Amino acid sequence: MNTKAIATQIPVNACACGCGQEVGKRAMYRPGHDARHVSVLVAELFNTIQDGGKVTKQMIASSAKSLPSAALQAKFTRAAERLVAKAEAPKPEAKAEAAK
Ligand SMILES: [Zn+2]
Repeated sequence: MNTKAIATQIPVNACACGCGQEVGKRAMYRPGHDARHVSVLVAELFNTIQDGGKVTKQMIASSAKSLPSAALQAKFTRAAERLVAKAEAPKPEAKAEAAK
């Protein structure tokens, strides 16, 4: 699940989320794929954390720059910060099991 195959032949007008589907000349995304792009970037940070890496504010900021609008950047930054906060907190699974 961590490894996502990146298509080697990306069409010229490929959707910016990385799905590889073609979009119209002036469009950046397939409909709804702006949100998907945010998810893709959050997943990358998640994988970094899973691999034992550290996600810094600078990394979040630089990933956010690949998003085309301030609204998307803000959405991504919020999600990323939530992810980092969760990753730094104690593991929740043990507590969920114990609650039974
Ligand atoms: Zn897409």
